[in-house]
Amino acid sequence: MSIPRARKALDGIPAYRAGKPALTEAHKLSSNENPYAPLPGVMERAGSELARINRYPDAGMTVLHEALSERFGLPTDHFAAGTGSVAVLFALLSAHLEAGDEIVHAWRSFEAYPIAADLTGATSVRVPLRPDATHDLEAMAAAVTDRTKVVLVCTPNNPTGPVVTAAELSAFLDAVPRHVLVVVDEAYVEFVRDPEAASGLVALAEHDNVVVLRTFSKAYGLAGLRIGYAIAHPEIAASIRKATPPFAVTDLSQAAAVASLEAQEALDERVELIVQERIAVVEMLRKQGWDVPDTEANFVWLPLGEDAMDFALACDPVSVRPFPGEGVRVSIGMPEVNAQLVALAGQWLEARA
Ligand SMILES: *Cc1c(COP(=O)(O)O)cnc(C)c1O
Repeated sequence: MSIPRARKALDGIPAYRAGKPALTEAHKLSSNENPYAPLPGVMERAGSELARINRYPDAGMTVLHEALSERFGLPTDHFAAGTGSVAVLFALLSAHLEAGDEIVHAWRSFEAYPIAADLTGATSVRVPLRPDATHDLEAMAAAVTDRTKVVLVCTPNNPTGPVVTAAELSAFLDAVPRHVLVVVDEAYVEFVRDPEAASGLVALAEHDNVVVLRTFSKAYGLAGLRIGYAIAHPEIAASIRKATPPFAVTDLSQAAAVASLEAQEALDERVELIVQERIAVVEMLRKQGWDVPDTEANFVWLPLGEDAMDFALACDPVSVRPFPGEGVRVSIGMPEVNAQLVALAGQWLEARA
């Protein structure tokens, strides 16, 4: 029997495999989610949209783009929202890449990057991280050829944690030709405390070829509603909107996102709790002897190499995210679960000593 074949480009893309479910939601430290309930006002505002689900959403995403415009002090034409910033990235790449083009990104970095590149038929050029798990922007600039259309910069880097510094990003943008898009993926920007960290918005103010990606999935705690956005030059934002399926973002998600933006004070408090937990977890792990890279996100990276899978199994009932042969990423959750994870990590080291 022969059935229709998908494009060859899909052969290299892994099919989704469900991970082992965590014992409880609180034990899930595998997806960098926010462990807290939605921000004040979010459930009410989203709930009131339920009565209108017989209607299509506002395809122009007016309410959300206006709220973002006010937040960032930029005209609404600088924004393009989608069903998560990964979907926005897919739209951006499909708008800008053709088969044979090259896209440069660091590796190990976000798993979605090579998948998004493969889907467009472009070649993803992976530039190894430096030994301290940071982006090697000099090597990335050197990897740009006349076929390169896009460079992805993930700061803080998922799954390792460090940021790119403002000085590094600025030198990089000066070195890269202006017709190359530089995407600054700031999925974890709210958790950054390093004063030397790069800012995508500052870079965008100086360079029209910069696209900043932001999401409501991490700090804002709306991962389940699928909403993220790009901030870019109006022409680039327009191309992203054209490449986004119509009516993708529901009014319910937009209402929840706007209510979350309005709950800034509660957001700040909650993010600060997570940052303080991160600092404490890193300190305790280092005291135990772990070589944890600096992290400015809501997760920590354990460079376990070949022991990654063993360690992940030993963490039961806490679920973490192993990258076989490389390491394990552990999200910051509620304090008692973080403490449980730190204790498990200590036992694991002792058992090997
Ligand atoms: C989580 C994450 C995103 C955002 O994903 P959504 O699609 O908005 O849920 C984007 N980039 C990186 C690096 C991430 O880790």
